[in-house]
Amino acid sequence: MAVSDNVRLVRDEIGEACRRAGRDTNEVRLMAVSKFNELPLIEEAAAAGVRLFGESRVQEAVRKFTGFRERMPGVELHLIGRLQRNKARVAAGFFDCVESLDRVELVQELGRIALERTAVLPVLFELNSGEESKSGFRDEDALCAGVEAALAFGGLLPSGLMTMAPFTDDEKPVRDAFRRLVKAQTRLRRSFPECGWDCLSMGMSGDFRIAIEEGSTLVRIGTAIFGGRQ
Ligand SMILES: *Cc1c(COP(=O)(O)O)cnc(C)c1O
Repeated sequence: MAVSDNVRLVRDEIGEACRRAGRDTNEVRLMAVSKFNELPLIEEAAAAGVRLFGESRVQEAVRKFTGFRERMPGVELHLIGRLQRNKARVAAGFFDCVESLDRVELVQELGRIALERTAVLPVLFELNSGEESKSGFRDEDALCAGVEAALAFGGLLPSGLMTMAPFTDDEKPVRDAFRRLVKAQTRLRRSFPECGWDCLSMGMSGDFRIAIEEGSTLVRIGTAIFGGRQ
């Protein structure tokens, strides 16, 4: 199937999930996760109307997106993979948002660097959802410590939360992981009302319907748009 057909199908399914949940389709942004996929396919997704892309590696993103973004001014690019501290400077200069803030040391490094940017850097805090995924803050208390560290630097703009649900066909642990993120959002809204917590980045190809039912505002879709990876 062509990428454009896949984009249309995913959009239809997002619409379906929103209707089931009694939500407005406009509340859910579609991100095409383009890691491992090259520019021709990324351009197809953009031609099908996708304006938000996600990459998990800094160098790969810079290689693929540098010229493309100049040609496509409306395109937004988020980092969704684990960021090493020695790549924080490049990342802060290149991405529109870092969704994968997962530890205090990274927050501090990125916070120092983000001060050099002319605009603040929007960031999401990643919550670890269990054994399968190693990245992310462990629990709500750890998240709060991460947010406090971020607020010590003026250059970071906390904008919401991100999580990856466990990879399983069993719906229960997946739904539980998304509910944990919503619960964490409620606490952060109360503890840090000066920040915006509206973005809930949750849901991938296999579980975005459940994520939307649980309140996702941004779904990160790779294989359902680009096909299987090599
Ligand atoms: C790869 C990746 C995705 C997309 O996964 P698919 O199952 O291919 O849709 C989403 N989020 C993160 C953090 C990823 O690393």
